[in-house]
Amino acid sequence: MLAAGRAMSPDARRFYRRYYLLTRFLPAYVLALLSYIVAWLLGPRSPLFGPLSGSAFIGAGAFVFVGLSQLLAWLGFQISGVPAARVPPTELDAAKVRDASAGLPGAAVVGPVEVVELGLVPYAASGGTPVRQLWLSTHTLRTAPPQVLRALLAHEAGHSAAGGLGCAWQDLMWLLAYPVVYVLSAVPLLILVALALQVSLWLRLDYALRLRREASADRWAGAVIGRRIYAEGIERYLRDLDVSAGAPLRRTRLAGLGLTPGEIDEILDG
Ligand SMILES: [Zn+2]
Repeated sequence: MLAAGRAMSPDARRFYRRYYLLTRFLPAYVLALLSYIVAWLLGPRSPLFGPLSGSAFIGAGAFVFVGLSQLLAWLGFQISGVPAARVPPTELDAAKVRDASAGLPGAAVVGPVEVVELGLVPYAASGGTPVRQLWLSTHTLRTAPPQVLRALLAHEAGHSAAGGLGCAWQDLMWLLAYPVVYVLSAVPLLILVALALQVSLWLRLDYALRLRREASADRWAGAVIGRRIYAEGIERYLRDLDVSAGAPLRRTRLAGLGLTPGEIDEILDG
């Protein structure tokens, strides 16, 4: 699930600000710094510089940076406090999840549902390798109507059905650190500018790729439980996260389902 940080409750805003800092921004900056430090150590101004240093950077970097990115995001998730907020689901919680996932063909691949106590924060996410887990906050589980819960479970099942590690090929972008350092090694200040630019580009690309994965989970879920029912359910969840109806994310998500502008207006007004 992807959330936009507009006009949400103060609790949720605080939670998501910290959550994105830990799971997106910090991992991106740590990776960038690391790749530039290694590139600098192997670059033309270093005693380690030699004919093999560039290819060594690219060969080892492709492996290290892609793996590190996953590891850092996982660490950020651990620090975010979501896993530590796990509480045993009540019988009512379990029954709600059971009812909401009844007949969902992908329910089996969602894996165990973890309930987390995050105060007034709406939260639904899935992830984890090799065992996929679904995380639901008590707020969402206890306040969301059955249609919303069903839409959320179908959405997360859509992510599971797509499988994969969440494709980290954008991390290959860190390999640019070596040629950048090579070319700019005489002007270290410009290297810092390039680093900042690259992080911002990487974050944009990462966001675009995430949106694409959201759209494909949306389409999967819409095909399974019915496009209109799904659209209404997911829209109510997004509304809980992001109160302004004109927010582009909500419109984009609904448009991605193939709904007409008229249908989208109807759902947003409903
Ligand atoms: Zn999602």
